[in-house]
Amino acid sequence: MSNPSLLILAGDGIGPEVMEEVKKIITWYGDKRDLKFDVSEDLVGGCAYDKHGTPLHDDTMTKAQEVDAVLLGAVGGPQYDSLDFSVKPERGLLRLRKEMDLFANLRPAQCFDALADFSSLKKDVVAGLDIMIVRELTSGIYFGEPRGIFEEGNERVGINTQRYTESEIDRVARAAFELAMKRNKKLCSMEKANVMESGILWREVVTEVGKDYPEVALSHMYADAGAMQLCRWPKQFDVIVTDNLFGDLLSDAAAMLTGSLGMLPSASLGAPMENGRPKALYEPVHGSAPDIAGQGKANPIACILSFAMALRYSFDLGAEAERLEAAIETVLADGARTADLLGPEGGTPISTSEMGDAIVAALEKSL
Ligand code: NAD
Repeated sequence: MSNPSLLILAGDGIGPEVMEEVKKIITWYGDKRDLKFDVSEDLVGGCAYDKHGTPLHDDTMTKAQEVDAVLLGAVGGPQYDSLDFSVKPERGLLRLRKEMDLFANLRPAQCFDALADFSSLKKDVVAGLDIMIVRELTSGIYFGEPRGIFEEGNERVGINTQRYTESEIDRVARAAFELAMKRNKKLCSMEKANVMESGILWREVVTEVGKDYPEVALSHMYADAGAMQLCRWPKQFDVIVTDNLFGDLLSDAAAMLTGSLGMLPSASLGAPMENGRPKALYEPVHGSAPDIAGQGKANPIACILSFAMALRYSFDLGAEAERLEAAIETVLADGARTADLLGPEGGTPISTSEMGDAIVAALEKSL
């Protein structure tokens, strides 16, 4: 059987710096766990524009469609700000998401004990937190028609339309149930069925899909109540599935429960391919951080955790993902901090590559 394939698109700014550390981890898995990946690399964003005049070359798009998973660093930078909208670095990322039809966006909110003081919430509320928000990404109010600003009588009216088909709800619900099966078999669906017809349909379809997953405990919550509960006692949740708009808000709020931007991974999943694996793009939530690029200051953990998500969700290597997350927990517990993780009391930060080396050393100890 051939090795699983991975396309690395490091991108711009700190993207290549944090990706170097992921490559160390990939090498370690190949050498020490006999997990070999067929890794290829290509350009996306500003660096692709510099070389090809487009932020995503057609050949790169084709490769992305063929591999088992894409791992992306970050795109963008001030030198590209004046480019035409159609060739801006971010367009490369948007094209990947659109053409791969990545309809399920996974945003974990995971709080490492050593960083619990970073949260704006009390330590006991967030310590050990590990939840996953699944946001529908390709439909809903950001795409529905009619939309626009229209004249009506003697004033203007702004219109956006929340629109969901049964099949759109069905596929994101299935993605969420599949995740729940790989985690703690607990799923909460959030909508506003009390005031929105799209919410009533959402609840009906999710309930119907749930019949195919009898092992998963399904609950429903109005999204506003869900927002409150996320701040009050987030550990009551495991997987949450919600629409594009509510997911946008809830996933940002949940992510910040855990502290630094340099710690947040994400995944976007599409339909299963012939081999049964979902189309998938893994990337840190942060951008290219031009203010610290090239200085060895970037925290590589968000990108490394994105690779851990790939291990779990594309390659069915949940135990190895846990090994990697535990190695990160150990390194943080030992006090290793990149500059973004230093609290008000300060301390001496370690560099991007020192953080990567420390995580590899902790992996080594896990054997
Ligand atoms: P950003 O996420 O790049 O940076 C925001 C702040 O967080 C900066 O102070 C930065 O130094 C810090 N930061 C981010 N990641 C960090 C890390 N791993 N370690 C330590 N500190 C980190 O957001 P921005 O400054 O608004 O945008 C910069 C560029 O990135 C822009 O061109 C923007 O369009 C692009 N961007 C790209 C993506 C993406 O590729 N998915 C996402 C957001 C922004």
